[in-house]
Amino acid sequence: MPLHTLQLTDFAWLVVLIIIIVYMIYDLYSRRPKRSITYTRETLVCTKCGLNVERDFEPGDFIGLVKGKCPSCGGNLKIKAIYSIEKTKR
Ligand SMILES: [Zn+2]
Repeated sequence: MPLHTLQLTDFAWLVVLIIIIVYMIYDLYSRRPKRSITYTRETLVCTKCGLNVERDFEPGDFIGLVKGKCPSCGGNLKIKAIYSIEKTKR
């Protein structure tokens, strides 16, 4: 068997092997379920001017809690709503 034919066969096998590996990796990633991250947010409303402020939820927060000062008028900010949003990541 001539040497160049042997090398070509080896190369062809290598290509096939690479294709299989790439396909397996692609298959693994495409089958992976979508990961979703849930964020908990809260809406604060100023008792004086009614300004709405959105913030990340912090443990211990509840609706009606006075939390911080209004950036606009300096009045009290009260938690009006707590909700969660879902973001999908692949
Ligand atoms: Zn205000």
